[in-house]
Amino acid sequence: MAARLPVYRTCKAPRVFGSPCGHLLEGTAQTCEAHQGTDPSRQCVAEVPRQGVRVRCHAWPVRDLPHCRDHDPVTVAVRREEQQSARARIAKVRQAVAAASPLVRARVLDLLVVERRVDLGAVEAAVRRYQMLG
Ligand SMILES: [Zn+2]
Ligand SMILES: [Zn+2]
Repeated sequence: MAARLPVYRTCKAPRVFGSPCGHLLEGTAQTCEAHQGTDPSRQCVAEVPRQGVRVRCHAWPVRDLPHCRDHDPVTVAVRREEQQSARARIAKVRQAVAAASPLVRARVLDLLVVERRVDLGAVEAAVRRYQMLG
């Protein structure tokens, strides 16, 4: 009995710099979920920096809209907002740590570990991410 090889189809929607998305497609879908509702006859109007020059984004825009999902002004604003809130959280934690006395400062991490808010796996994974750079 000859085994039927599964036919793999991948999403052909171009990414920002023109390479295909490559996401594996399910059933008869023509694009992956992220690229559904996009317009293959147009190109996103956003310009992105590449090697010092600004190039037009190759991605397909959302149907009836000028931008691809990544460059939609709402997405851009939400992303900026999230980064700002992350930065604000980091700053507040740093302030709280800095305001504590040196003795307390040394206990804070221990207390967070005891309370299971920080665990060894998370710390080791974070350390590994920096060692990758070294
Ligand atoms: Zn895709
Ligand atoms: Zn775009």
